[in-house]
Amino acid sequence: MSEKRLFHFLNLGCSKNVVDGESIIAFMELAGWQLTQSPASASFIIVNTCAFIETARTEAVNEILEMSLFKNNGQCRTLAVAGCFSQRYCKDASRSMPEVDIWLSLTNWKQELTDYLNFAQISSKSETRHLTGLAATQYLKIAEGCSHKCAFCAIPLIRGSFRSRPIQSVIDEAKWLENRGVRECILVAQDSSCYGRDSGTSLVKLIEKILASTSFEWIRVMYLYPAFVSNELLSLFAGEKRICPYFDMPLQHSSDEILTAMRRRPGHMDTRKLIERIRTVVTDAAIRTTFITGFPGETEKHFAHLVEFVKWARFDKMGVFTYSPEKGTASYEFSKRPKPSTALRRSETLIEIQREISASILSSRKNSIIPVIIDSSAGKAGKQTCIARTRRDAPEVDGTVKVLQCKSRPGNIIRVRITATSDYDMTGREETALTT
Ligand code: SF4
Repeated sequence: MSEKRLFHFLNLGCSKNVVDGESIIAFMELAGWQLTQSPASASFIIVNTCAFIETARTEAVNEILEMSLFKNNGQCRTLAVAGCFSQRYCKDASRSMPEVDIWLSLTNWKQELTDYLNFAQISSKSETRHLTGLAATQYLKIAEGCSHKCAFCAIPLIRGSFRSRPIQSVIDEAKWLENRGVRECILVAQDSSCYGRDSGTSLVKLIEKILASTSFEWIRVMYLYPAFVSNELLSLFAGEKRICPYFDMPLQHSSDEILTAMRRRPGHMDTRKLIERIRTVVTDAAIRTTFITGFPGETEKHFAHLVEFVKWARFDKMGVFTYSPEKGTASYEFSKRPKPSTALRRSETLIEIQREISASILSSRKNSIIPVIIDSSAGKAGKQTCIARTRRDAPEVDGTVKVLQCKSRPGNIIRVRITATSDYDMTGREETALTT
């Protein structure tokens, strides 16, 4: 039997990119290649990139250049770049980075790989993913692209307009994940709340179908555009224990003037009403949001409004980005941009306010008993320290629960009594296994 050729795969960026990357790995394996964790021994290296903002692009360029060193110091014969950076910048970058042999597009990468590597045609039915990351928690991408026109965002330019995946194809993949032991299924898209608006269905109908067709213990939805969080969706979340009471809803700002300039909806008062509605209907709701500081035109008065709003809303989780001007977006041309140092100071102020809010919310959970899913463990069997998450915490972006002297394994869902809390994380001890 001929020896398998080795390829290395480096994934950068968000959860959507993770899923795309897993499809690329699976495709390479179907073509007879074997994944290796060692870039030095791989003859083919693929870097799957992000290009959302400047820091992501810088990371992409650095990682591509780092991997290109294995052409001299390792076995690498071919270096490929996939993902958002490749899609958007391949023309310019191919001149400045001759080390890269192939730039893959987001829409036609299968054919491009097939042509470049002379693969025999691989069945288009082979929709599998090579699952990476946590054993019992996996992402399920339900749509691609975005049709909103947020003034600062380059995603629609890179990923195109919003397209829902056909419902049956999402369900098939959900069942495929369930058969591989997945217990927490996380629905992702650039805007999950718009699912089905282009195809006569809806996110509510999709979740109902996933609930009926699978036995995932936890279903989590990420990336809800606030203007499309409907009462129907809230009722579904409130009435179904298998859906995590988690609202990942980027708001970006609170001031009406800035929201208008950002071309985002809804305005400030409707956002307040929405937050109140979520907390009334879904009583244990955890709301995560993100804000941008330093958007063109943001004055101290606008920022003070945002500070007041954050204090009022007491979000469970919050991320803050400083504004990054992206060529091709509407706000790239906007004047009156605050200095980057001002944007940074404002973001640090918000983070400090949120740190105190988060610490106070978590400390109120001391002594409560809550279900957690175990992500990883270390130490001797029976006396391990496990890292777990609650239904109110998504992987990578939110806090964790450290479970001391834990007898359960990664993937188990157990009950934990919270014994200590810090700003963003908690510690607890195992009470009982909910499932094994
Ligand atoms: S909704 Fe999100 S992905 Fe879509 S344009 Fe706005 S910020 Fe970008």
